[in-house]
Amino acid sequence: MEAKSDIAELRRLIDLAERVVVFTGAGISTESGIPDFRSPGGIWTQQNPIYFQDFVASETARRETWRRRFAMDPVLRAAEPNRGHRAVATLVRKGKVASVITQNIDGLHQASGVPAEQVIELHGNTTYAHCLTCGQRYELEAIRVAFERDEAAPHCKWCDGLVKTATISFGQSMPMEAMKRAQRETLAADLFIVAGSSLVVYPAAAFPEVAKQNGATLVIINREPTGLDELADLVVNRSIGEVLGGAVGVN
Ligand SMILES: [Zn+2]
Repeated sequence: MEAKSDIAELRRLIDLAERVVVFTGAGISTESGIPDFRSPGGIWTQQNPIYFQDFVASETARRETWRRRFAMDPVLRAAEPNRGHRAVATLVRKGKVASVITQNIDGLHQASGVPAEQVIELHGNTTYAHCLTCGQRYELEAIRVAFERDEAAPHCKWCDGLVKTATISFGQSMPMEAMKRAQRETLAADLFIVAGSSLVVYPAAAFPEVAKQNGATLVIINREPTGLDELADLVVNRSIGEVLGGAVGVN
């Protein structure tokens, strides 16, 4: 399909829909300059991932986890929402999109104005930390200053539990509450838009399949083909900002 007509088709599908779910992956954040951690050549394929069990068991692993996190800090702090994020936020504000389900951990949907309660984070969030025992939230800036001073992994000041970014690590179970909400929202959607996910990581990749089986229209916007393209009603292999921004009328 030509560039103009697929944007027009997406606009038509959005207009027709009553309840849209947007499912986002790394591809929407790479347009803000955040590297795709899982892609070939990405950070996670160059370094061995640190498994959750090792984080819990070993001070050395915890220190290395925090060292890597703060090495990424300049990139994460410099990243701002792009045209694709703004288009999604506009659809949320208009009441078209009830929920954004995301595999991203960068908080850019919230930064673009989507209320936090409408963002369902399947892999957590790396912009803050929490105690693994009592759940107390910690901001990263104070942890960073202390870490740069003595290279010690932080402990909770209330219960002495381990403090970790609020992400889901390799080897850590999926967040039950987020998964349940994502399932509910997926079943309630009549239009399901995938933006920037190659749909390879399960169980996350099951959502568009379930949406389609449940009767929703499925749209996939991704630079590369995905394993679910055959199932989709519309596939667009171009920039998310261009396609979603064009369809929603956001620059
Ligand atoms: Zn605690």
